[in-house]
Amino acid sequence: MQRTLVIFKPDCVHRRLVGQILSRFEAKGLAVVGLKLIQVDRALAEKHYAEHAGKPFFEGLIGFITSAPVVVGVLEGNEAITVVRTLLGATNGVAAAPGTIRGDYSSSKQNNLVHGSDSPESAEREIAMWFKAGEVASFTPAGSEWVIGG
Ligand code: UDP
Repeated sequence: MQRTLVIFKPDCVHRRLVGQILSRFEAKGLAVVGLKLIQVDRALAEKHYAEHAGKPFFEGLIGFITSAPVVVGVLEGNEAITVVRTLLGATNGVAAAPGTIRGDYSSSKQNNLVHGSDSPESAEREIAMWFKAGEVASFTPAGSEWVIGG
């Protein structure tokens, strides 16, 4: 079992797509083990996107992610990091394949609805950055044996 961090970005919250997109993750077999709506401050935004500091889109990205509340979650499941990234599709919504979340709902490089951790190291760092220990649950969702087999 693997955990990954997802952020339903301000465009997703404004467009009332949080429920629909969360449903796609759940339908794929991922379990929600942490979830909350928060207003991100600049310090957390800069920390989360530290690898992009100095890039031309950085200031716009920080302004975007702090402009309205986000819903942040921890999803757990088999190969959760890859599964989420595959469902999300390419970063740029214009180029993202139809059938992916960004391909179906986004036409923007920046406003691409959802963040997903890109490696086990990032997932661990990001979950610790966004959630306190007691906010992430540990349990075995019923029926897990039907989601993962073979
Ligand atoms: N982004 C942007 N302009 C760009 C590239 C990225 O505004 O040219 C934003 C976009 O919201 C993206 C985030 O910066 O999701 C982080 O970029 P990354 O390359 O890590 O993409 P991701 O892992 O989210 O697909």
